[in-house]
Amino acid sequence: MNIRVLGCSGAIAAGYKTTAFLLDDDVLIDAGTGVGDLPLDALAAIDHILLSHSHLDHVLGIPLLADAVLRLRVAAGRPPIRVHALPQTLDALRQHLFNGIIWPDFTALPTAAAPVLSLHPFQIGDRLDLGGRVIEVLPAVHTVPAVGFAVDAGASAGHAHWVFTGDTGPNPALWRRLADLRLSHLVIETAFSDDEAALAHVSKHLCPHDLGHELAQLSGSVDVRITHIKPGEVEAVMQGVQALSSPHRISTLQAGQDMKL
Ligand SMILES: [Zn+2]
Ligand SMILES: [Zn+2]
Repeated sequence: MNIRVLGCSGAIAAGYKTTAFLLDDDVLIDAGTGVGDLPLDALAAIDHILLSHSHLDHVLGIPLLADAVLRLRVAAGRPPIRVHALPQTLDALRQHLFNGIIWPDFTALPTAAAPVLSLHPFQIGDRLDLGGRVIEVLPAVHTVPAVGFAVDAGASAGHAHWVFTGDTGPNPALWRRLADLRLSHLVIETAFSDDEAALAHVSKHLCPHDLGHELAQLSGSVDVRITHIKPGEVEAVMQGVQALSSPHRISTLQAGQDMKL
């Protein structure tokens, strides 16, 4: 199994793409602007999209992806791309994105009987089996209903898990769940520097100070990658992170990185 980081920034600028991960060739985890760097044939190979929440920086690739691959997938007789998310997230897509105003309803195009997208609700705690790859839906604490994900690397890898927190503020339920999982990587957000702690709190994100409290609840020494930093804030955030006395191995997540599971 391989997870490629297509985007891991909290906003855009040249060289900065928002959140998207590609698991092997066919599973997209969040659909931020990083999706747009994939060639057309790679876009057409995506069969599943897992969404952490409804915010634009995580979903805006879906409408453009659907439009880009529709002809290729129809010509090849491929089934709809299955979009998996909380029911509230799927409702937000229906009401605010695929509403015929912001974008056409690609859950009924090219035909209602054989559309390019289909929507599938999950709940926190569900374990999705996508072609033998098991992905658990984890809790997150954000301004809208939100989740994280744990990808199980399988028996041959001792069931190590790649964990992505999604956008979240302090999240005690996550640490209770992770206490029972073996982790290969923890991808955790730190969207704001400590100077912007007030903004982090009101928008339910983490700053380095809060990250320290969160990581203190994770035992062992884990490979921790920091994600969702705003362009221009990387140095300030990572200074705060490096000042934490943490037993974990902490580095900045980079777009283009491959993480082997
Ligand atoms: Zn968000
Ligand atoms: Zn975000």
